[in-house]
Amino acid sequence: MLRSVALGSISVIAWMNETSAVIAAEVDHLTQLDAAIGDGDHGVNLARGFDAVREALASRGGGDNLPPGRQLILAGKTLVSTVGGASGPLWGTALRRAGRALGEAPELDGARLADALDAALAGVVELGAAESGDKTMVDALRPAAAALRAAVECGAPLAEALEAAANAAADGARATVPMQARKGRASYLGERSIGHEDPGAASTALIVAALDRALNA
Ligand code: ADP
Ligand code: MG
Repeated sequence: MLRSVALGSISVIAWMNETSAVIAAEVDHLTQLDAAIGDGDHGVNLARGFDAVREALASRGGGDNLPPGRQLILAGKTLVSTVGGASGPLWGTALRRAGRALGEAPELDGARLADALDAALAGVVELGAAESGDKTMVDALRPAAAALRAAVECGAPLAEALEAAANAAADGARATVPMQARKGRASYLGERSIGHEDPGAASTALIVAALDRALNA
């Protein structure tokens, strides 16, 4: 039996606001990572997308009056329609699936967030067919989802569970450095993709860290 972990809740608006802020702050870094093994658009892609998400959630009909699941679906749709490149459809699908997993639940607690991240990961894998070790965002998202699930299942407070998820995502992103890319644009480089951090894994670590910070926002 899963123990109850309703020790705090989190708002999607706070998460997306924190995400938009950190992506904007790190846009040059993400661009550099993508310039090394891709086409250099990852930072700009995500900055444009999450800025639009922040606006959509702040607009009338987009914000406080929607349950968290619907807010995430709106965020995902907004990403798909504003971000070109692989990361738009991938993160768009992730957030829409997370939102669908939440349904009409009125609050986001640890157990629901664990379900949401698992659903997000499943959506990314279904769309992009990347496995762990392929040097993609999956290498940050899968350990994050697993760490959140594990912490929640042993009854950790939400703050601890989110910190564990953020640390796992950061470790996962760093672990992409020695990998050879097998999916996406970086895979065209073959062995030359080795020695660089994957931009999508790096931005995923930022997005999961934003979830951790959103708890206290
Ligand atoms: P593009 O490669 O189209 O320019 P971005 O630069 O926005 O798109 O995003 C690149 C990131 O997308 C990669 O660093 C990788 O993490 C992620 N990515 C690419 N293809 C896949 C895939 N098939 N599955 C999961 N993630 C992927
Ligand atoms: Mg790119």
